[in-house]
Amino acid sequence: MTDTTPAAPASAARQAPATGTARLMDGTGLARALVAEAAAKAADITARTGAAPCLATVLVGEDPASVTYVKMKRNRCAKAGVESRHVALPASVGTAELVETVGALSEDPSVHGILLQHPMGHHIDERAAFEAIAPAKDVDGVTMHSFAAMGFGLPGFASCTPGGIMRLLDAYDVDLAGKHAVVVGRSAILGKPAGMLLLGRDATVTYCHSRTKDLAAHVRDADVLIAAVGRARFIQGADIKPGAVVIDAGYNEGNVGDVDFESARERASLITPVPGGVGPMTIAVLLSQTVEAATRQLGLQAA
Ligand code: NAP
Repeated sequence: MTDTTPAAPASAARQAPATGTARLMDGTGLARALVAEAAAKAADITARTGAAPCLATVLVGEDPASVTYVKMKRNRCAKAGVESRHVALPASVGTAELVETVGALSEDPSVHGILLQHPMGHHIDERAAFEAIAPAKDVDGVTMHSFAAMGFGLPGFASCTPGGIMRLLDAYDVDLAGKHAVVVGRSAILGKPAGMLLLGRDATVTYCHSRTKDLAAHVRDADVLIAAVGRARFIQGADIKPGAVVIDAGYNEGNVGDVDFESARERASLITPVPGGVGPMTIAVLLSQTVEAATRQLGLQAA
């Protein structure tokens, strides 16, 4: 994971009030700054080597949401001077062929990062496919190597959304040491790694999930709340501790998050809006990590 955190956008408030109307955490502005930084580094790599950093995107089938996500990621690459090489495979592709394809990209020195879009279809062994990504090219943070590195606090690439959450917290000078961080959701790409990263920064972490008893009691005790559930307006302001920092990673139908924004902002000190909070950070971290991967693989000093 990279440790470069651009300064908070000019609109950011460095000091948030303890209670009242929360300050917004501007993910759009922070993502823009991170992409600009990645673009400058990509331009430097291109000037020094004659070739741009390259992200390979692998898409299995034609799921409309996945097609859109990959297109968005490739567009952002193009704007940042990062090459993207797209590999489209039919929905009928088997695990062995997919592993072979990803393995070949892992071996290809002109590819610096690999994004394997998921879900890939029930007949595919997704774990086997992810593990075919060389750790040095795992810019989406999906391999067991990256996950373990995150857990041990060793260098490696973070899952992009949790990595984006940490950058947001840092940009707004949120001191995590000793704070009670409550993560609602424990998926492998979001909740679980977010909690690991918070623990690595000395927060006291509680994970909540669908089997948690008295969820509201845990939420009410959170100094830092990470909502990663996937249910619209699941967490209400009345359950938020006054002055808490609220990070809403949810993105649900109707462009709404997992937190009821209007009631939550009356209690929180800092809060991410949806859209414009966590969402834009994910692709920005992917780009940043791709450029970082290229820098390391090419043996270049960061620009
Ligand atoms: P997921 O894999 O479906 O995981 C949801 C988690 O929420 C699970 O751990 C689940 O618990 C927990 N949960 C479900 N119902 C609950 C309940 N009633 N009480 C407490 N916990 C409950 O989802 P995900 O992939 O982590 O995504 C979560 C949200 O983040 C979605 O809205 C998604 O769109 C959004 N997201 C945004 C980005 C971005 O770039 N901004 C990236 C990824 C995801 P169990 O484990 O017990 O089932």
